Amino acid sequence: MSTQHFPHSTTAMARLDSVSLAYPKGPQVLRDLTWQLLPGQVVGLLGRNGSGKTTLLEALLGLRDPQAGRIELFGCPAAQLSDEARARIGYVPQSSDLFETFTPTQLLAYFRSFYPRWNESKVEGLMSRWDIPRDQPIRKLSGGQQQRLSIIRALAHEPDLLVLDEPVSSLDPVGRRDFLRELVDQVLDRGTTVVFSTHILSDLERVAFNLAFMSGGQIALQAPLDELLEQVQHLTGTSSELSSLMQRLGVTPLKRTPLEGGQERVLVKLPQPSALPDRVQASALNLEDLFEALT
Ligand code: ADP
Repeated sequence: MSTQHFPHSTTAMARLDSVSLAYPKGPQVLRDLTWQLLPGQVVGLLGRNGSGKTTLLEALLGLRDPQAGRIELFGCPAAQLSDEARARIGYVPQSSDLFETFTPTQLLAYFRSFYPRWNESKVEGLMSRWDIPRDQPIRKLSGGQQQRLSIIRALAHEPDLLVLDEPVSSLDPVGRRDFLRELVDQVLDRGTTVVFSTHILSDLERVAFNLAFMSGGQIALQAPLDELLEQVQHLTGTSSELSSLMQRLGVTPLKRTPLEGGQERVLVKLPQPSALPDRVQASALNLEDLFEALT
């Protein structure tokens, strides 16, 4: 298998190399997907419903076997991870109906027994701040409380790699803000690598995350949010003018849309804010436009 896509391969926390995955009798979800998470990166994974975000995160964690390609965590094959390596991962699945008869206190005591590292004061602080009843069966907690508990469980052992699948979907705006603040603290304090999927775009604008857009079974584009907002633009002009411009700048279009009168609109990520010919019109995109154009 080629490793040429990964000049920093030894330092990646997670890497997927030409991964293809289809469900039995189901759709092809990942298509020759190549991706990596570098230490300390915080990546928001964006994609439409059904685009394969959950499948990608499960495959990254070694929970699903791809038909082709290679997946590594901390430099080891994801499917054969040691217990020590597993203990470096925190995972919040999209929904988990396990442990419904446990109380939060029992659940946390149970998980504490597995991990060599466990930050009890962080757990206590979050349990109080997020107002989670400690001694009621988990099934009686609200969806938002269950989701917060799941996040606390994943943060408690201070993972080096935190994987969260739609962690904020049941949280109200205040809960989402608290969660993001916690995420940022975690990253600043410990250099945790974080990937989380979401479809709630407004929250992402609070932090300069890397955003990865998933579409067509691949990561179509990944870049820091401020860079995306500055450099991804719609250019409108004649096809020949746009082609020579893109060639001169060395960019490939992310999307092309033919317009009337021999005109065309292309979506490109410019190398930096570039000087453009007068006859080419450029317009920037906000995050919602980006999501629509790239997914
Ligand atoms: P997302 O998280 O972006 O909504 P998913 O990874 O959940 O996307 O799903 C990607 C595609 O795979 C969808 O078409 C979904 O219906 C299909 N899919 C997901 N899980 C299974 C499964 N266990 N068996 C068959 N098809 C599945």
